[in-house]
Amino acid sequence: MADSFNSTKNDFENLQDMFPEIEKMSQGLNHRLLELYSLYQIGLALSTTLDLDEIFNMFQKIFQQTLKVDRFGIFLVDHSFSTLTLHTSFGSPKNMGKAKTSFKLGEDIFGEALMIKKTIHVPDIKKQKRYKYYNDGTNSGSFLVIPLLLRKNQQVGVISLYRKKTGSFKKTEISLFNKISNEISKVIDKTLLFRHTKELSVTDDLTGLYNRRYFNDRIETEVQRSSRYKRSLTILMIDIDYFKNYNDINGHLMGDEILKRVGHILEDNVRKADILARYGGEEFVVILPEIDKAQALQVAEKLRSTIEAKKFPREENQPRGKLTISLGIASLYDDSFKTKELVDFADRALYKAKAEGRNRVVAYNSSIDKNRPQNTLYLNATTYDTVSSKK
Ligand code: GH3
Ligand code: MG
Ligand code: MG
Repeated sequence: MADSFNSTKNDFENLQDMFPEIEKMSQGLNHRLLELYSLYQIGLALSTTLDLDEIFNMFQKIFQQTLKVDRFGIFLVDHSFSTLTLHTSFGSPKNMGKAKTSFKLGEDIFGEALMIKKTIHVPDIKKQKRYKYYNDGTNSGSFLVIPLLLRKNQQVGVISLYRKKTGSFKKTEISLFNKISNEISKVIDKTLLFRHTKELSVTDDLTGLYNRRYFNDRIETEVQRSSRYKRSLTILMIDIDYFKNYNDINGHLMGDEILKRVGHILEDNVRKADILARYGGEEFVVILPEIDKAQALQVAEKLRSTIEAKKFPREENQPRGKLTISLGIASLYDDSFKTKELVDFADRALYKAKAEGRNRVVAYNSSIDKNRPQNTLYLNATTYDTVSSKK
């Protein structure tokens, strides 16, 4: 017979003696069940998607519905590991609407948990005045902030959990939350890595702009969208004038610097909605959604004149003493409904701009191919003598 069974007591008394043990066992089982269920849900989150927002939504559900917390937030750290920014949250009271959503390393409860790489548990926020963040007026409840760490303790961010009831995060639960946070860190890491790899595959190494592959994908989508909603769309093809000359005189490395600079200037002078990419060597392309040909002429002219006005190192050795660009324009509706043709027409307009003396904007029209310059729209008051390209 088990030690706990005492023959001098009746069955009921014996059961009563065993009750705390049974209750402990049942609590343990419940806890284990909750742990498995939460981890299962997190596994599910990862296997279903690699979209960070979707994954955060799933975490939110797990914490709200399965783990029954009243407030929840995930903060992620920036590349320099100096600032934490809120990425997703639920349950913040209305009067916390304008609450700070960004914290420096070491600042308040979030920054501190991140810095010391340890979970901070505040069982009763009334008694802990050190942190300002949760001071939302109600001044009650319990708070748990867990750092999200990877192998070698690299910090990803923090998770913040709040319950209205004081002392509601029990020791066993805190260890469960730590385990869950561990899994969440791994999921976030994989997702960010996936996002980063995806970014790399569409980025041009030298200029940091989108690459041609991205442009090819995107132009297809943009043309389809614009045609469907009957919205304008224009393409600008841009090419640096006499760039071979620049490289030959100043070397390839200086040439690379110019490419980067031109890329940045173009980026600074188009809208956020425009899609700028490096098309190849010293050629760039811009997709201008919702912009018709007349508006595009103005955009292109602004780009042309901005580059002309900028001072570039050693540009005095260029054939006209300045580094310049030529631009070709083609628009949906006016010129073609076919993506490939639009790109081709913008390219032909660019070729025309070169033939007409460079440092100018030419918009495609059907007469371009018939070699009738009088029908070609072009901007740029300055005309130059024809200088043969150093091809
Ligand atoms: P045009 O006015 O007719 O455009 O003349 P161009 O000399 O610019 O044209 P061409 O096509 O003859 O030469 C393009 C040059 O661009 C060739 C090459 O020296 C340079 N180039 C292309 N890609 C790169 C690059 O990644 N880095 C550098 N530094 N130069 C490049
Ligand atoms: Mg060129
Ligand atoms: Mg070229």
